[in-house]
Amino acid sequence: RFIAFEGGEGMGKSTQARLLAEFLRGEGRSVELTREPGGTPGAEAIRELLLSPPGEGWTLGAEALLFAAARADHVARKIRPAIEAGDWVICDRFLDSSRAYQGRAGGMGDDRVRTLHEIGSGGLVPDVTVVIDAPIGDVAARLVNRDGEESDAIGGRAAEYHASVNAAFLEFARAEPDRFAIVDGRGSVEEVHEKVLDALSRFLGT
Ligand code: C5P
Repeated sequence: RFIAFEGGEGMGKSTQARLLAEFLRGEGRSVELTREPGGTPGAEAIRELLLSPPGEGWTLGAEALLFAAARADHVARKIRPAIEAGDWVICDRFLDSSRAYQGRAGGMGDDRVRTLHEIGSGGLVPDVTVVIDAPIGDVAARLVNRDGEESDAIGGRAAEYHASVNAAFLEFARAEPDRFAIVDGRGSVEEVHEKVLDALSRFLGT
């Protein structure tokens, strides 16, 4: 079983992925909690390249290929073996981040992102993808607190870029309701965790 968490920055998806992993382990299930870009030594090395780009930045194509390369290593060395071993795999970001960031906000388009994913990772798709959704204003405020400095850009990208990413996640979720669960990210960490468990109850058999 393979569950992905998606959402823009500051939505709390990493925290929610961890809480779900702890919940499932508490039920005695074997869980592999992992993240993108990263999750294996090779993919973590590529993550470093992505997070500290050269002064002129990465071109869109190079960025998309680096994400796809990181995912290829991660899927082959960690995610597929864990699924085959019968573990629950919970991944913080996966394919739909590439679709939202490079495909939609970057302008590469869905088809080309999916082609890279097919070449790199055999087109592996999560069984369920949880999209954590919160208003961008709340998120900017949270990230200002986290970084201790004010900015109208998040992670060096303009607010419109993030709005486009968030809209893309919601659109993907509405287009494939069987593969997605949208969870309202407003409220305390515990409240959102309860909403995640509710949204996944049928899938988790809880
Ligand atoms: O998950 P996290 O928020 O740490 O993501 C790391 C960074 O990579 C973020 O700034 C996110 O916007 C970016 N990202 C991206 N394209 C992806 C996945 C993540 O630009 N496909």
